[in-house]
Amino acid sequence: MPDLKRAGAAPGRCPICGRPTRDDYRPFCSRRCADVDLSRWLRGGYAIPGETEDRERGEAPTPEKPRPEET
Ligand SMILES: [Zn+2]
Repeated sequence: MPDLKRAGAAPGRCPICGRPTRDDYRPFCSRRCADVDLSRWLRGGYAIPGETEDRERGEAPTPEKPRPEET
């Protein structure tokens, strides 16, 4: 297993695509993967689940799910 020998020095693997990371884009392998991670972050991929849903529900209730409590 040649990989074991390198494991100590290797910075790691890109969490997005699994390729070896590059110093320039650590902990990612490329600018693209860094962008992917960032956009996930901004879009709430790592945010508290449900927060966005709650807000959407409050502002515009979905017609598919009528709330019986309101009638
Ligand atoms: Zn990557």
